[in-house]
Amino acid sequence: MLRPGKERSLARRHPWIYSGAVARVQGRAEPGDVVVVRDSSGTVLGRAGYNSASQIVGRMWTFDDAIVDDELVAQRVEAAVTRRDSLRDVTNAVRLVYSESDAVPGLIVDRYDDVVVVQFTAAAAERWRPVIIATLAALDGVKSVFERSDIDVRRREALPMVTGLLAGDEPAEQVEIVEHGCRYLVDVRRGHKTGFYLDQRDNSELVSRQADGCRVLNLFCYTGGFSIAAIRGGAASVVSVDSSAPALERARQNAAANGVGDVEWVKADVFTYLRELRDKGETFDLVVLDPPKLASSAAQVQRATRGYKDLNWLAFRLLSAGGHLASFSCSGLVDSDLFTKVVAGAALDARREVALVHHLDQATDHPVSLSFPESAYLKGLWCRVD
Ligand code: SAH
Repeated sequence: MLRPGKERSLARRHPWIYSGAVARVQGRAEPGDVVVVRDSSGTVLGRAGYNSASQIVGRMWTFDDAIVDDELVAQRVEAAVTRRDSLRDVTNAVRLVYSESDAVPGLIVDRYDDVVVVQFTAAAAERWRPVIIATLAALDGVKSVFERSDIDVRRREALPMVTGLLAGDEPAEQVEIVEHGCRYLVDVRRGHKTGFYLDQRDNSELVSRQADGCRVLNLFCYTGGFSIAAIRGGAASVVSVDSSAPALERARQNAAANGVGDVEWVKADVFTYLRELRDKGETFDLVVLDPPKLASSAAQVQRATRGYKDLNWLAFRLLSAGGHLASFSCSGLVDSDLFTKVVAGAALDARREVALVHHLDQATDHPVSLSFPESAYLKGLWCRVD
């Protein structure tokens, strides 16, 4: 039962219940168990997965009195998968289930060709492991279901880090995927997230379309997604920078898989390397700037904005007149307005006249639920320097 007034966010269909909103819990509930949620007058508001170990004690499954059972969970997963059908022509690598945005709280599922990678981010979904695994294993063409529940947010749910095979055959060391005609090798066991940044699919396509004849600088390149897209789009040269040796090794393999030779892979700290480029007076026509998440908590937002400002300031200084910057932030806590302000400040300090050409977004298989702004995390600005 909720405290008086605490039903308001549920009325707007926001799917989280914070511990401070709860007046009392009747009976015993193990982590992930489904409980009936009532407002302070006793009216049923829906059913939620409960976890007393988390600050988010309840994650809504339903906003009515419908029962949450294997059938409902399987249906939700299947519906999410069906919604991605139209992406099949574009790629064999798709986010099949995106947690609350697909009404399956705490479940992320990414498909890489015949391998499905599952991440249980909350006890609410963990509770339904058997039916979720069985549903995914039964999907057309799926040969393995592999778990990558080695994600930090699980600590906030008091859940252990777990990885390993859940169903079917061991996945290949490198699973080959194709996005907009570019081939990438994905390490589902050790790669970031579940192996690949699927959320950048549409943005790398844009880079590919705009790269013709450009001298490209790809910062925080990871396994080379934007670099390969740029070369395929006719870039004159591509310099790609990352601090991780294994990521760069994989990037080289990806380049080879695409028959792409002429990329310079640089192992360096981007903050330092950008200053070296500036001191050498180098310029580029297209810079892609996709740093890791700089803010993981509200307390880190201010420091993160300083980091974004520094990076964007340096990037603007390296751009030729008429050049473009694709600048991203994947910190959910830095919203689009704040990010735009930071980039505008960087342009001003770099004394460049900058036009915002496009707002960029996470790919369409990572939809944002309008009642759940937390599902929007990746934002980008496509800027032209005049
Ligand atoms: N743009 C990539 C994803 C970037 S993820 C893609 O679309 O696939 C962020 C990357 O930044 C990681 O590969 C990580 O190794 C790298 N990284 C983190 N801090 C860094 C730093 N200070 N300098 C260089 N690379 C860094």
